Amino acid sequence: TERNPNQPEYMQAVTEVVESLWPFIMEHPRYAEHGLLDRLVEPERVIIFRVSWVDDHGEVKVNRGYRVQHSSSIGPYKGGVRFHPSVNLSILKFLAFEQTFKNALTTLPMGGGKGGSDFDPKGRSPGEVMRFCQAFISELFRHIGSDTDVPAGDIGVGGREVGFMAGMTKKLSNRSDCVFTGKGLSFGGSLIRPEATGYGTVYFAQEVLRHAGRYMEGMRVSVSGSGNVAQFAVEKAMAQGAKVITVSDSSGTIVDENGFTPEKLAILGEVKNHLYARLDEYAKRVADVTFLPNEKPWHVPVQVALPCATQNEITGTDAQTLVNNGVICVAEGANMPSNAEAVECFLHNKVLYAPGKASNAGGVATSGLEMSQNAMRLTWTHEEVDARLQAIMQAIHKSCLKYGTKPDGSINYVDGANIAGFVKVADAMLGQGIV
Ligand code: NDP
Repeated sequence: TERNPNQPEYMQAVTEVVESLWPFIMEHPRYAEHGLLDRLVEPERVIIFRVSWVDDHGEVKVNRGYRVQHSSSIGPYKGGVRFHPSVNLSILKFLAFEQTFKNALTTLPMGGGKGGSDFDPKGRSPGEVMRFCQAFISELFRHIGSDTDVPAGDIGVGGREVGFMAGMTKKLSNRSDCVFTGKGLSFGGSLIRPEATGYGTVYFAQEVLRHAGRYMEGMRVSVSGSGNVAQFAVEKAMAQGAKVITVSDSSGTIVDENGFTPEKLAILGEVKNHLYARLDEYAKRVADVTFLPNEKPWHVPVQVALPCATQNEITGTDAQTLVNNGVICVAEGANMPSNAEAVECFLHNKVLYAPGKASNAGGVATSGLEMSQNAMRLTWTHEEVDARLQAIMQAIHKSCLKYGTKPDGSINYVDGANIAGFVKVADAMLGQGIV
């Protein structure tokens, strides 16, 4: 804490991982040597920079840009870029730390990083967003590269923003590789990348449920968020025969007791992806839904909850409400959406709880597949990428079983994911000496 003052999210993420790892390290003392843990909790490099740009009224705006290059032990730094007013060093350090273990779990050779800015894209014109992205990249481009650090999207950064940043990177570097993943299909993007995090979360939830002898078909599901991850989680959950009852955004929650349909999902996409509007706009366009301003979805009774919005959106009280209402599985599409008390509550009540670093790894895994296709200058079909994504989610599940199965046969997915990710990164660090 003394080394990282005022970084509560970073301390939260590190504490969770170290608590999981400690009994394992005691049993395998070679992982307690060579300052391994001390090195692992210190990012390799943190870059903080000024982003100045001019808004539509000719006014100069100044934001802060960041890139946390946490670990390159198993491959180039890899992780998204977030634009949200809440962005600060603590949040990006927690995300880069988590990303390191998540990327190790994917089986692909990617290190961990994360970046972003406190820029708020809400209410900004397309021209302002483009100018901001270009200003951001005018500094970041010198720190990234397809073998160095490969950014992607995250909250507030979708295909449009990745395109602007990829284009500016290409211009400044005079190289055809646009470095970013999540690019448009016509300039090196991979099929299934936009869908991958949401789809992967549902694939993982299915693996967890199947292992417990249950199936998602017919279950009531709540989703939070209504952005990239949430929309494709809704789509895939519906395709598995589940009844999706909720979505949310930062203005409130939609409850739809009739369940989502592909038609309603298309309207949600129009409202969020094209109009950049709030969910009250969705409620105006769809019959028989309730919009609950400023509420989260966790009081709605469901068997499966898929939090896909942001960190710490499920508190201990929310978790207890979900448990009281009969939730059996929680699979995280977002990063660290459950706070420490919520995780404790799920584990204590034997909820099948899949932490984000396992269940949402499909996004970065497919980014890894995009990097492979770019390197080979080939493109794989929709079916091929989807099949690889499913195989990776199954492999992650298997790793969680390997390290998370307890003597009574129950599975602790938190321990499983943390230890499996750690072992790969730690072995690479030990093999490379003190660097
Ligand atoms: P988007 O920006 O597309 O969507 C984010 C959604 O969450 C929006 O509905 C947004 O509401 C809502 N939201 C954001 N912040 C808050 C908040 N403070 N309170 C309430 N609602 C909030 O982002 P993504 O879908 O890409 O990311 C969602 C989560 O998934 C993040 O935790 C991200 O780190 C994680 N993730 C994303 C991956 C990806 O491939 N994109 C990969 C792995 C994890 P509003 O529309 O009102 O802003």
